[in-house]
Amino acid sequence: TPTRRPHIGGNWKMNLTLDAARSLAAALRDGVAGATQDRVDVTVFPAMPHLAAVADTLKGSPIAVGAQNAYFQPDGAFTGETSLSMLSDLGVASVLVGHSERRHVLGESDALVNEKVLAALEAGLDVTLAIGEKLEQRENGRTDAVNAGQLALGLAGVPAERLARVTVAYEPVWAIGTGRTASPEDAQAAHAAIRRALVSLYGADAAAGVRIQYGGSMKPGNAGDLLAGADVDGGLIGGAALQSTDFLAIVSAAA
Ligand code: PEP
Repeated sequence: TPTRRPHIGGNWKMNLTLDAARSLAAALRDGVAGATQDRVDVTVFPAMPHLAAVADTLKGSPIAVGAQNAYFQPDGAFTGETSLSMLSDLGVASVLVGHSERRHVLGESDALVNEKVLAALEAGLDVTLAIGEKLEQRENGRTDAVNAGQLALGLAGVPAERLARVTVAYEPVWAIGTGRTASPEDAQAAHAAIRRALVSLYGADAAAGVRIQYGGSMKPGNAGDLLAGADVDGGLIGGAALQSTDFLAIVSAAA
């Protein structure tokens, strides 16, 4: 079996003051122990206006900085949007695309998600591509079909040689910010199905190298059990990423 280096992401969403974001970044920088940082990739996704300060704080640390969103066009009349090169200039190394709040609160389509994935990879950034079913879809037995569909549409046109820069985040919508977590068995089953979908898109070798994170109310108390799944290669953390001790405990659980 391949060894996939675990990847833990912290999605700070639309939270924190500038000072608090800087302090949280400093606490993570100082708290990631040497033994852990050798075994886990860590990316934090601060709010757009905090990116520069957080990137500055984390300069030289092993923690990568990602943006929660970006636009796919290089420049021009796109009021309110942020280009990938603007992000790169700040030291931002990756972009979160397809988060359920972007899909379901802001109305982003699979086609827009795909444009963003393609543009981010073209610009040399890493991508965390989030997918996941709604409660009603799970109850109708459509979990694996929904995930496979979002995956295929999100990755359309991405060549195999760029797949190594993609982390997939499986985030059941009903588990995000709700305190409800998928059971470790349900999470592993969904992850295994996502990997089978990757195999059919890219073949076994490429699929075996892709990290698949679980996201949805992951906390220090449940991270170990969730991360034990053979196809669970990390986590994307929302609420528990806002407390350095909680987030660092999850990072340690992945190491
Ligand atoms: C998320 O927003 O990606 C997430 C998983 O949030 P939470 O951990 O708060 O459920």
